[in-house]
Amino acid sequence: NNKSLKIKDVLKETRDKLNTCSNKSIVDSSDLDSRLLVSDLLGFQDSKSILLLNRKQEIDSQQYEKLQSFINKRLQSEPISYILGYKYFWKHKFNCNSSTLIPRPDSEILIETILELKNEIDIKRVLDLGTGTGCLLLSVLDEIKDSQGFGIDQSNDALDVAKQNSIDLQLSTRSTFINANWNDINQFPVLEPFDIIISNPPYISFDEYNTLNDTVKKFEPKSALIAKENGLQDYRIIGSLIRSRKLLNPNGFIVFEIGKDQHLDIENIMKDFGFTLYLSKKDLSGIIRCLIFK
Ligand code: GLN
Repeated sequence: NNKSLKIKDVLKETRDKLNTCSNKSIVDSSDLDSRLLVSDLLGFQDSKSILLLNRKQEIDSQQYEKLQSFINKRLQSEPISYILGYKYFWKHKFNCNSSTLIPRPDSEILIETILELKNEIDIKRVLDLGTGTGCLLLSVLDEIKDSQGFGIDQSNDALDVAKQNSIDLQLSTRSTFINANWNDINQFPVLEPFDIIISNPPYISFDEYNTLNDTVKKFEPKSALIAKENGLQDYRIIGSLIRSRKLLNPNGFIVFEIGKDQHLDIENIMKDFGFTLYLSKKDLSGIIRCLIFK
């Protein structure tokens, strides 16, 4: 056919197709998403280049076909990060797939906070409970050059993704990934104490989960999102695990990501295990998103 394959026209056509979707959230992000998809076809290596698309450049018919398969997936509500197979987080690109949560910009506050804690404590050993893509652990290891990290996850498929990320970021010699479930303390590996324990555990209640849109519900792993006891159960389990296994150095810190309005409950839970709140941090939309315990 004599379709024009100029970027300018391809972008417009992609956006128009995405705008026919019945899922409003797909329509809402059609402009950015069409640029993300097209820049991926052109092999752009960083997030800034999507803004610098040369609109006169053309794509070939093979790239055009690939784009059509991307668009069809997106019209089925598949998250853009799973379609592309990666998401940018902090300073790097992280592989992700349906066995891992997609890294969220809100979680970057944990990295920022840990870099502040560097003034308080020499950070040598870092533990990430529920590592998923490894985005938190690997971003910390990348920032703190002489640190060593352990990432735990119940999913071997997620650990495969995390290991690949550690290789891509040249952090594999400083990171160890272990398959374990914090629900079974007896099976949990015995580890030396850590200076920093990070966790972004599942914290969404069943009720809140039902209000999320299909892009999340149909594709992202439920086990990474939902927690019992109104979203609080995993904090209790983790608090108990850290205490009974003596996972934290006496001068170390626990850095949690938390859900909206959970900070008082979690402060109380952690108090029961002997940990006191040291600092709390708000995310970009003003919600208390990060709690640090000593
Ligand atoms: N640590 C990973 C992240 O923050 C995964 C968290 C999870 O699966 N709950 O993205």
